[in-house]
Amino acid sequence: MNDIAHNLAQVRDKISAAATSCGRAPEEITLLAVSKTKPASAIEEAYAAGQRGFGENYVQEGVDKIRHFKDSGIADIQWHFIGPLQSNKSRLVAEHFDWCHTVDRLKIASRLSEQRPASLPPLNVLIQVNISDEQSKSGISLAELDALAAQVVELPGLCLRGLMAIPAPEADYERQFAVARQMAVAFDALKVRYPGVDTLSLGMSDDMQAAIAAGSTMVRIGTAIFGARDYTKN
Ligand SMILES: *Cc1c(COP(=O)(O)O)cnc(C)c1O
Repeated sequence: MNDIAHNLAQVRDKISAAATSCGRAPEEITLLAVSKTKPASAIEEAYAAGQRGFGENYVQEGVDKIRHFKDSGIADIQWHFIGPLQSNKSRLVAEHFDWCHTVDRLKIASRLSEQRPASLPPLNVLIQVNISDEQSKSGISLAELDALAAQVVELPGLCLRGLMAIPAPEADYERQFAVARQMAVAFDALKVRYPGVDTLSLGMSDDMQAAIAAGSTMVRIGTAIFGARDYTKN
């Protein structure tokens, strides 16, 4: 087994263990492999090991990889845009990705909807919540969620699938869990209102257990699969 296949197997085992220990079925949690800054060859290794969902943070880099795989005839990868999105880049996301996790204002949502090609299914979107209320992070507050969700579900080019958050790092499990629960409560309420909602994108390497125990359905893992990132080359 190569390193990436080995790492993937370990991460999947961790997800299964975390799910089982809180009485959830491992299949309820989707692993998103975060491949930002990593070459297409690394994605190919993960793909060969059965991974199908990949997360990218930088629009142009993601589009280049998506084109590469489409050109090689590989059509069954789900590409998730998980980085901050500026409106001048929304068209590339709408035209190439399957999901966008970082919708946090109506302007971006409207643009993505208008720019989504009619030949493609609606773009799956998550509303990003700034759950730790950090000035520097993107995302809306929970108080703003209902109003934005009601607007997003009306947009024909989008399919509202749920919520995403990047909580502030916390070493303590109980605090990680408390924050993750706030997201899960908001997610459950949204699900009742909109039946298409089924995804809570929450949990990274350091808070995966707490996120899964709280109700996450999608964890985003990069380094533990692909190794450390080298930003000096970019
Ligand atoms: C980079 C990134 C991840 C993965 O981080 P790792 O520490 O490499 O596992 C997850 N979610 C988002 C939004 C990211 O930008």
